[in-house]
Amino acid sequence: MKEVKAFSSKKDLLDFINSDPALVKVTREYPFRVTSHLFHYIDGPGSPIWRQFVPSSEELLEDDGLDDPLGEEHLSPATNLIHRYQDRVLWLVTSACAAFCRFCTRKRIWNRRIVTNNSVINEAVNYIAAHGKVRDVILSGGDSFLIPAKKLEEILKGLRNIKHVAIIRMGTRLPIVHPKGVTTDKLILLQKYQPIFVMLHVNHPVELSPETVRLINHMADLGIPMASQTVLLKGVNDSFEVLKELFLSLLSLRVRPYYLLQMDVVKGTYHFRVPLSKGLQIMMNLRHNLSGLAMPHYMLDLPGGGGKIELTPSFVVKIDDEKIFFKDRSGKISWYPLVDDESDKVKSVLGVNL
Ligand code: SF4
Repeated sequence: MKEVKAFSSKKDLLDFINSDPALVKVTREYPFRVTSHLFHYIDGPGSPIWRQFVPSSEELLEDDGLDDPLGEEHLSPATNLIHRYQDRVLWLVTSACAAFCRFCTRKRIWNRRIVTNNSVINEAVNYIAAHGKVRDVILSGGDSFLIPAKKLEEILKGLRNIKHVAIIRMGTRLPIVHPKGVTTDKLILLQKYQPIFVMLHVNHPVELSPETVRLINHMADLGIPMASQTVLLKGVNDSFEVLKELFLSLLSLRVRPYYLLQMDVVKGTYHFRVPLSKGLQIMMNLRHNLSGLAMPHYMLDLPGGGGKIELTPSFVVKIDDEKIFFKDRSGKISWYPLVDDESDKVKSVLGVNL
């Protein structure tokens, strides 16, 4: 990653923010926080790290979004647990983040303290134990890697005592924003209580700094499975070239690109939202140019808690009684035969009327 400092010290950056009354107002509502590591890589205004972490006056001007865009507060059957899908639960184990991403879906909890004490851990573990269909527990927050190792071990031990919990995932941005904060004691726990999938939040190739790359390689050498989640962000990564470089780099680092996420409808983040038509076009270009292993799923989380929907660009141009026609990467039309008078069924499943 190229090192270009727009400010010579973190204090200069803070002075810049504090000298603008509009930004001061924003930070009262949504605090500003970056790590020294990120500061090191902040380029000038509008650059990828700047745009993601430095407050913007637009955050208070736009009010078309929601504080709780995924309706999580209504899906919480136990303290800090969100149970939306039968087979998965999301456990918010901390509200702490090393740096605050301005587009965060959970901006609403930045000023809130999530307590994960013994009684909260027991409540969550008991709830999960009593729900036999839960196979997958996702530890999130905040940044799940910021929970103290002792607490993390209590959580993992509790979960591993539940037979029906097969997979544990941990969502984190710490390896990107503060790689030194990923301590050996936690990595030992990830090995001890495996399989634990680490879901890295990474949005731009510049985030793969030498320090982050070293850490990811180390984690891969330890046998820790990793996948990535990328938020599609206007002015940051809404281009085929940037995402192609990101996904190929991640794959080379043994991180499977998993999700490309359409922005949630979060209050004060409209300036980050990419039109769906653009997202789908980028996905189509990626599909034509990357192997399946480097391709994430393009996902949209329905406002209000309806759950995730996969967005897929359509390559279908026509369906008749006997054939389905596709446009290939060169623009040539090719067809595949239909069987058993399935034309209407195929149209219905694909949701097209061609
Ligand atoms: S690390 Fe995740 S939870 Fe924390 S501010 Fe960024 S997006 Fe939000």
